[in-house]
Amino acid sequence: MFKKILIANRGEIALRIVRACKEMGIETVVVHSTADANGMAVRMADESVCIGPAPSRQSYLNIPAILTAASVTNVDAIHPGIGFLSENEEFCRMVEAHGFTFIGPTPEHIAKMGDKAVAKDTMRALGLPLIPGSPGIVRDAEEGLKIAKDCGFPVLIKAVAGGGGKGMKVARSEEEFKSSFTMASAEAKAAFGNGDVYLEKYLSHPRHIEIQLLADSHGNVVHLGERDCSVQRSHQKVVEECPAPGITAEQRNFIGDLAADCARKMGYRGVGTMEFLFEDGKFYFLEMNTRLQIEHTITEMVTGIDLVREQIMVAAGHPLPFRQKDIKFDGHAMECRVNAEHPETFIPSPGKITRYHAPGGLGVRVDSALYDGYMVPSTYDSMVAKLIVHAKTREEALMRMQRALEECVIEGIQTNIPLHLRILQEPEFRVAQFNIHWLEKTLARRKEEGRKAAL
Ligand code: ADP
Repeated sequence: MFKKILIANRGEIALRIVRACKEMGIETVVVHSTADANGMAVRMADESVCIGPAPSRQSYLNIPAILTAASVTNVDAIHPGIGFLSENEEFCRMVEAHGFTFIGPTPEHIAKMGDKAVAKDTMRALGLPLIPGSPGIVRDAEEGLKIAKDCGFPVLIKAVAGGGGKGMKVARSEEEFKSSFTMASAEAKAAFGNGDVYLEKYLSHPRHIEIQLLADSHGNVVHLGERDCSVQRSHQKVVEECPAPGITAEQRNFIGDLAADCARKMGYRGVGTMEFLFEDGKFYFLEMNTRLQIEHTITEMVTGIDLVREQIMVAAGHPLPFRQKDIKFDGHAMECRVNAEHPETFIPSPGKITRYHAPGGLGVRVDSALYDGYMVPSTYDSMVAKLIVHAKTREEALMRMQRALEECVIEGIQTNIPLHLRILQEPEFRVAQFNIHWLEKTLARRKEEGRKAAL
């Protein structure tokens, strides 16, 4: 087993990994930028190393600086966390070339799943159902238009290197297609340095349902059930639930076994998530994330399995301590992503936390690196806390989440807690009548109602 792990990340996820390591008796080194010198993970870790100034390019994405820190502190392995270098093939290769273990999959798997056109090809060959669209990269607008006409408008133009909902454009008609195509490609080039795009039919009312996978290096793969992440804004997840409301045990086993089977055939190792869109009773493969997900927490609550611990164990070469039949799903969990942002305009709201009180009590978990007096930097992602509840039923989880949100005090900055409270009150949300477009449509409708009422 590893004696010492370097965590190449920040914020709540760095803290989450420090916590798992402590419980496993593993020492930790947290690297940080100058902006995060007072971060909670830095305080909790055994050692810390400053690797550069605030901009990510010069710190959290600075591979030589991270590897130097790993050498100086003499660690055995590097955990990349979420985002930053977690799905960077080159980083993974360099970590291994320098004699450290990369806590994640092989560089080949990262590369394969990181290119979405290749990922879709791979999954098609392994028997996963796909959203109708282009067979691979679309060379130019003419070719794209032909494919778009075949699968029918609206279509979605997506970047092969895309992530975080960026580099996506909907084209609703033939007239619109050319300009959308050019825009999507230019945006992808600017954001990811790769302008290649592919096409998918734009689904009108799908839910986002994803399968959590866990694989060791001995050919054992299990699925840990599904999560519903349909409540989104700008293609970003806002609320997640486990299990997905209305999904039957047969549907779970069907898609879970299929996903696990694909991972096994690929020789996949580590934690991973296969994302699907689910519409009219059918699942369509979207993408595979070859890392931990932010919302891994709700799966942990329902299965009782510490995913970070298991991720570290399989990276160290241990076989999984359980089989599919041993995995039980207990109760209902829900996560609200708390962001430092205005609850209506969504403009980021960095700044100093003047008062912080985390909710508690039975079935409440808060994964956050916040504390009284902490400065939320403006440089990074705006998510500052994950509020997670676990209860026997969805109804109880809803009540518990409301109670926990009301208990939560974060002063000095603005947060989207008021938005979460509003979502919880929406009748359609309460009965799980939602899809990926629901939140944006509901917010627009409520705004219009408010405007009319004010007249
Ligand atoms: P990213 O890697 O940028 O997150 P994804 O392919 O995972 O991109 O898609 C992100 C989100 O975009 C999905 O959760 C869904 O809300 C929406 N989306 C993606 N593909 C489609 C599609 N074909 N039709 C409708 N919505 C889609």
